[in-house]
Amino acid sequence: MSLSLSGDQPEAPADADDGVWLECIECGETFAPFDDVRYTCDECDGLLEARYEELPTFDEFEGEGVWRYSAVLPFDEGVSIREGATPLYEVPGLENDIGVETLRIKHEGMNPTGSFKDRGMTVGVRVAKELAVDRLACASTGNTSAALAAYGSRGGMETLVLLPAGKVAAGKVAQASLHGARILEVDGNFDACLDIVQDLAEGGEAYLLNSLNPFRLEGQKTIGLEILEGFLADYDTVPDRIVLPVGNAGNTSALYKAFRELVQAGELAESDVPKLTGVQAEGAAPMVEAIENGADEVRRWEDVETRATAIRIGNPVNAPKALPGIRETGGTAVAVSDAEITDAQRDLAGEGIGVEPASAASVAGLRKLRREGIVGDDERVACLTTGHLLKDPDAAAAAGADPEPVPADTDGVLEHLQN
Ligand SMILES: *Cc1c(COP(=O)(O)O)cnc(C)c1O
Ligand SMILES: [Zn+2]
Repeated sequence: MSLSLSGDQPEAPADADDGVWLECIECGETFAPFDDVRYTCDECDGLLEARYEELPTFDEFEGEGVWRYSAVLPFDEGVSIREGATPLYEVPGLENDIGVETLRIKHEGMNPTGSFKDRGMTVGVRVAKELAVDRLACASTGNTSAALAAYGSRGGMETLVLLPAGKVAAGKVAQASLHGARILEVDGNFDACLDIVQDLAEGGEAYLLNSLNPFRLEGQKTIGLEILEGFLADYDTVPDRIVLPVGNAGNTSALYKAFRELVQAGELAESDVPKLTGVQAEGAAPMVEAIENGADEVRRWEDVETRATAIRIGNPVNAPKALPGIRETGGTAVAVSDAEITDAQRDLAGEGIGVEPASAASVAGLRKLRREGIVGDDERVACLTTGHLLKDPDAAAAAGADPEPVPADTDGVLEHLQN
């Protein structure tokens, strides 16, 4: 079964729960959503997606934040810390400098724990309550663990996080720690952490809240819905292109799903769907490789390296959902160097927007694609910035200017300023 934009709305199976069910994207098998814990298809191990009997219409959305979109979520409300409703900043200087018709920055660093992961967790932890599990777990490059720890404690559940030792930014470990997660530092990279936590979840040790979990992506769809509503309000049209950093490709998959559902509902013309454009760091770019080679599958990179630790991932688990998302929307994928990422982080900071390195990859990628003529000067573009500057204070300090030591008297300070 292919995830085409124009695919028909499937019929609800008999065991759908209140119009919600899970469906395998590979073989089409359907499952009741909340009877058993399940992350992939029982028949073929394919990825699952949530399906709804009722498709969304814009006029059904009301309220603010992720739960504004409850018409396309499995519940009416979740375990919430007021996630979503993030700013869609104007950046006139950068827009002019990069040379596109419109550039807006959707800053997901403005969520409660400082990244978009909160949008997935408010839904995922609500589902965990429905399933009556008591322990939640994830592998993480940092932000998933911070969000899981916060939403888990909000929901009164135990949390366990597996992190790659020495490769997680300081702010993220501090959050997971203070919000009460049990933190296991694994002597390996993120992909190894995910392999282990998947084994633990299969063995019933904990409920898995990585983006392999289809319900997390339901929450993350709301990023796409907010961007569309923001552009419609300001320009009476949706963006031509959405540029986003890619790690496990959860957001790429989630935004594509949001648009597919709107197309199927007749709320968005197929020709208007924004081109999904993924950006990876050169040292961790398996999705870019697959797009460039026209491959159906992503080759796992065993060794990955980049300063943008949030996207230091060699085996993007959502690739089977994200590759059609990029291709069917006419988008593309591009790799950028760590130096280009740091430059973009400074560019955004120069407009007052503080982001962590992985987030700046979107702007670095847009600049590169514009330079190469792949993005046109007439395009209206939204760049997603995924996490807040304070997540990775070391990277920010390294990219910024050093403090200057001065003596503790006014004359000494004045003298220093004159030099
Ligand atoms: C998790 C994360 C990503 C990667 O997102 P995917 O949906 O896995 O592609 C990118 N940037 C930041 C800051 C993140 O925390
Ligand atoms: Zn299947």
